[in-house]
Amino acid sequence: MKKYNFYAGPSILSQYTIKNTADAILDFANTGLSLMEVSHRSKEFVAVCDEARNLVKELLDVPSTHDTIFLGGGASMQFCMVPYNFLKKKASYLDTGTWASKAIKEAKLFGEVNVVASSKEKNYTFIPKNYTVPDDSDYFHITTNNTIYGTQIHNIPKVNIPLAADMSSDIFSRPIDVSKYDVIYAGAQKNLAPAGVTIVIVRKDALNSTDRPIPTMLNYMTHVEKESMFNTPPVVPVFAALQTLKWYKENGGITAMQKKNEEKAAVLYNEIDRNKLFKGTAETEDRSRMNVCFVMNDEYKELEAEFTTFAVAAGMVGIKGHRSVGGFRASIYNAMPLDSVKALVRTMHDFERQH
Ligand SMILES: *Cc1c(COP(=O)(O)O)cnc(C)c1O
Repeated sequence: MKKYNFYAGPSILSQYTIKNTADAILDFANTGLSLMEVSHRSKEFVAVCDEARNLVKELLDVPSTHDTIFLGGGASMQFCMVPYNFLKKKASYLDTGTWASKAIKEAKLFGEVNVVASSKEKNYTFIPKNYTVPDDSDYFHITTNNTIYGTQIHNIPKVNIPLAADMSSDIFSRPIDVSKYDVIYAGAQKNLAPAGVTIVIVRKDALNSTDRPIPTMLNYMTHVEKESMFNTPPVVPVFAALQTLKWYKENGGITAMQKKNEEKAAVLYNEIDRNKLFKGTAETEDRSRMNVCFVMNDEYKELEAEFTTFAVAAGMVGIKGHRSVGGFRASIYNAMPLDSVKALVRTMHDFERQH
C-alpha cells in the first residue's frame, strides 16, 4: 500500500534524493567505492561540498558578505554556537515555542538575554507581533517556523539590528533576504537531507567580534576558513543535501517551492476549516505552511483514536500531533506532493461521512 509520509522530522525527502544517495552508497561518482568509505578530502567529495555550497548560494541568493558551512551537532548545537560567536553583552529573543525557549536557555550562559515577547501563555498558538527590540542588542533571534505548534512568521520583523534565525523547518520553503541576518541555521532533517548535517549561513564580518575565547570547533570562523573541512563533515548527509538542492533547482527554485507550499497548505487548511470534525490549533494568520496542526472539534473529541486508526489504514504515516499540542500534525515539507495532501484531505472527508 502507498504510504504518505507526514513525519515532522526526520521527514519526507524527494525520491530523487533517496535514489541518488542509495546509488552513491553503492558506487560513488564511478570511484568503485561507497560514498561511506571515501576520504572527505578526495577530489570527488570536495566537488560535492563545493557544489552544495554554490547551490545554497544560488537558490537563496546568498550575498558575498556571507558564507555557507556544513556542521554536525544538529540545530540544537547552534543554540549555543550563536551566542558564543555573536553575543557580546545583550541579545534579544522572540519566544515562539519549545525550540525558541531552548535557544533562550543556552544564550543566558553567555550574557543578558532580553525576551521581547512570548506566546507561551497561549501554548504558542500565535506569533507575538507588537513588541520592541532594543537597538543595543547584538542580534534579534527568531524561529521562523515552529515545528511543534504549527505557527510560522510570515512577516519577518523589521528591526535595526541583525537577525539570527533558526530556520530548521522552513529553510528553502520560501525566498529570504539573507542580508538581514548575521546567522541562519537549519538542521537538515526537515527540508533537506537525513539527520547529521546542519546548514549555517554566517555574515563573515560579524565573526570574531566578541572578546571571549571560543573553542576551535564552536568557532564559526574555523569552519568558514576551512570550507567545512576542518574535521570530517557528515559525508552522506552532505551528499544527500546536494541531491535535494539539485532537485529544488530543477523544479523551479525557491519561488516555485513557495508557490507549491502555499497551494498544499491552502488545500489542507480549507478542509480543516470545512470539516465539522476538525479544527486548527494555530491562529489563522500565523498558520505554518510546513506543519499543519489540528485537533478534533470539541463535540467529537472521543473520535480521536478512531480517526488515527482510520488514517493509518489509509496509508497516512506520522500524523500524530506532538505531545504538547495533542491531536494531529501533518508536516508537508517541500518534498511532499500536492497529491499526498489531497489523499489526506480525502481521508478526513471519508471519515466525516461516517459520522
Ligand atoms: C527539529 C528542530 C530543532 C532541533 O533540531 P536538531 O537537529 O534535532 O537539534 C530545532 N529547531 C527547530 C525549529 C526544529 O524544527
